[in-house]
Amino acid sequence: MNIIVLSRSTKLYSTCRIVEAARERGHSVRVIDPLRCYVKVSAHRPEVHYRGEILKSVDAVIPRIGASITFYGAAVLRQFEMMGVFPLNESVAISRSRDKLRSLQLLARRGIGLPVTGFAFSPDDNEDLINLVGGAPLVIKLLEGTQGMGVVLAETNKAAESVIDAFHGLNAYFLTQEFIQEAGGSDIRCFVVGDKVVASMMRQAKEGEFRSNVHRGGQVSSVRITPEERSSAVRAAKIMGLNVAGVDIMRSNHGSVVLEVNSSPGLEGIERATGKDIAAAIIQFIEKHARAGKTRTRGR
Ligand code: ADP
Ligand code: GLU
Repeated sequence: MNIIVLSRSTKLYSTCRIVEAARERGHSVRVIDPLRCYVKVSAHRPEVHYRGEILKSVDAVIPRIGASITFYGAAVLRQFEMMGVFPLNESVAISRSRDKLRSLQLLARRGIGLPVTGFAFSPDDNEDLINLVGGAPLVIKLLEGTQGMGVVLAETNKAAESVIDAFHGLNAYFLTQEFIQEAGGSDIRCFVVGDKVVASMMRQAKEGEFRSNVHRGGQVSSVRITPEERSSAVRAAKIMGLNVAGVDIMRSNHGSVVLEVNSSPGLEGIERATGKDIAAAIIQFIEKHARAGKTRTRGR
């Protein structure tokens, strides 16, 4: 097959591993920078151009679109979808997953366990917004954050009010959330490919930190997940419409809850922690499922 990896750089670990796995399995693969793609929107012959070349005979696209380029990256991917090219994850599903609130609403509707979450527009509702998630300690999150940035633990209601005032002052959307203290700064990343969790790892926040993100100094180790966790990770990815997803789960005293669903989950931490060949699992999924014109939503 002719596979394109939409990625900003060939040097990124995940991109390298995907290229390596595709070549090992006999495919021809190219890494294309989505920001250097431009498109011709036309009814009969939609095209994607790349540095002066028209990209042709592509069987599958693997999007590795970072949060900072979601809008443009999704537009380029959608153009491939218009051409009938199979996307590993669809553009709509990626855009959907980048909106934390929308994701939580969709997951909640289908009965996935979640931390109790509040959302408001007016500063007049601050007090209720704090009480609605059980009061302090509580977590306040910017809707547009990644890698743990913009996630704050407020230990008192007063602190929560100041943080909320500051976010209001910046005109930034945020949500309030029940603090899952009992997880002790750990969460579980489940790597979903198709209808399976192909690997999972535990991430433990460093001393004095509640956020377990590797970018915040979190340590990873392998972990055994329960059948319930396995099934809610797979269901969460399916509800979001993602074939490949990193589903983050926390063990709370009201059961395991889904924190978020990432559409471009990194391979480095989890391949190292588990010794599993996740890149190969991704390529095998494409071999099995890629068909021209098979995108479900066609960018809608
Ligand atoms: P990001 O997308 O920036 O990683 P997350 O919502 O995943 O944001 O939060 C970052 C980290 O903060 C999580 O991995 C987790 O360790 C911690 N965290 C987030 N929400 C909660 C919560 N409600 N209770 C306890 N810890 C949390
Ligand atoms: N690559 C990051 C992760 O897996 C974030 C990707 C995303 O925002 O979807 O945690």
